[in-house]
Amino acid sequence: MTYAEFRHRRQRGEFRCRQVVEEFLQRIERQRGLNAFITISAEQALQAAEESDARFDSGSPRLLEGCVVAVKDNISTRGIRTTCASSILENFVPVYDATAVERLKAAGAIIIGKANMDEFAMGSSNEYSAFGAARNPHNPDYVPGGSSGGSAVAVAARLCHVALGSDTGGSVRQPASFCGVVGFKPSYGRVSRYGLVAFASSLDQIGILAHTVEDTALLFSVISGHDPRDATTLPEPPVQSSLNEGPTVEELVVGVLPRSVLQECHPEVWACYEHCRNALQEAGAQIVVVEIPFSHAWVPAYYVIATAEASSNLARYDGVRYGFRASTEEGEDIITATRTQGFGAEVKRRIMLGTYVLSAGYYDAYYRKALKARRLIAEAYARVFTMVHMLLLPTSPVPPFRLGERIEDPIAMYLSDLFTVSANLAGIPAISVPAGKSSEGLPIGMQLQAAYGADARLLYYAHLCSRLWGSGSGTEYPAFE
Ligand code: GLN
Repeated sequence: MTYAEFRHRRQRGEFRCRQVVEEFLQRIERQRGLNAFITISAEQALQAAEESDARFDSGSPRLLEGCVVAVKDNISTRGIRTTCASSILENFVPVYDATAVERLKAAGAIIIGKANMDEFAMGSSNEYSAFGAARNPHNPDYVPGGSSGGSAVAVAARLCHVALGSDTGGSVRQPASFCGVVGFKPSYGRVSRYGLVAFASSLDQIGILAHTVEDTALLFSVISGHDPRDATTLPEPPVQSSLNEGPTVEELVVGVLPRSVLQECHPEVWACYEHCRNALQEAGAQIVVVEIPFSHAWVPAYYVIATAEASSNLARYDGVRYGFRASTEEGEDIITATRTQGFGAEVKRRIMLGTYVLSAGYYDAYYRKALKARRLIAEAYARVFTMVHMLLLPTSPVPPFRLGERIEDPIAMYLSDLFTVSANLAGIPAISVPAGKSSEGLPIGMQLQAAYGADARLLYYAHLCSRLWGSGSGTEYPAFE
């Protein structure tokens, strides 16, 4: 059930919030095998539900009254364990809420639990979680995508109404695509990062996973907007998007990728892409093929910048200030022992890579070069968006893959971010919308991108496309073989 539908039915008195939370908790229990949650906050959720019921009863429900939310476990929740799916924070209980969480609660939302993820949001399959992989609800032998895998599973398996994730290089959009839900990464600076555990601060952005664009837009209107506690937020009020007012399809100019780029995709993803492009064209949109300059630099620039920032951000986990501390023998170094035992292999790989590209001898060759590439990528995007309203891209070059299929090959895993990382490098908004199914019956999502700051417009386009592609919540969408 979408939140909009829930709200409507709750207002008619069909059920109580408490009942709905109880049902979600039972479903979570039954679906334990999906491993969507690291921590379940049943008691707090039931208590919040009572308050929501009282508000509905008195006829003064807030904007998100009774909306049941799963929060990715790298977003701070006061009094609820926040682990980042890492052994190093296994028992860490924050004393404050992230701004996004604080705003959700103030609007009447109910936090049901903390969603599974790749350790410190590094990964594309959820297999790098210290708590075990989450599984794709469409077929548990397949990955749900990552790093916000648990959030996507929780929405898709109907264990909550909506979820928060974080997107540094695609971690909201890619799992949304793999699980058949909507996944939105706002423009950099739209949503406060206060309380989001830092991975790569210049790329990180909290995002939303939901069944529909409508629910996404509503949540966005609550969590977006300036926050004095995050100096990188835009000095603007929360974004109100109207999904029914905007240009008609006939007025739209849609940028599409050239064949040479699409060839890098799995044939089923390509087929789905063509289907979506044709649907737009038949509805009257003007389609233009755009060469996006410097696209060959997207993945390398991302992995240099993201690892460099991660190596610096993760220096704080030293076993001294907070989190896990290794027990050591006399004379043994606590910091080394703590980090050796506390971090998983992928996190260590990134810390080493990031430290290397920042080191004196290689700074110019890698890090500075990546920063230059990043600027060129952002400028190229800005030029593209003077010519088109939005860009249509696949979300992932491949359909959902099997558990274990890519875990031994970090490069193959990194390449699954081919179409998502550029939006983070340029800071632009991007959204994944369900669009089709693979021959194995697993979801395929398509991605829309728009100019920096055009978040409200992007949501409007996404709403339009989801109707056009027949991918609204609960509808069956076409399979591609
Ligand atoms: N898959 C990408 C990575 O591993 C993106 C991660 C993210 O967006 N948090 O870095």
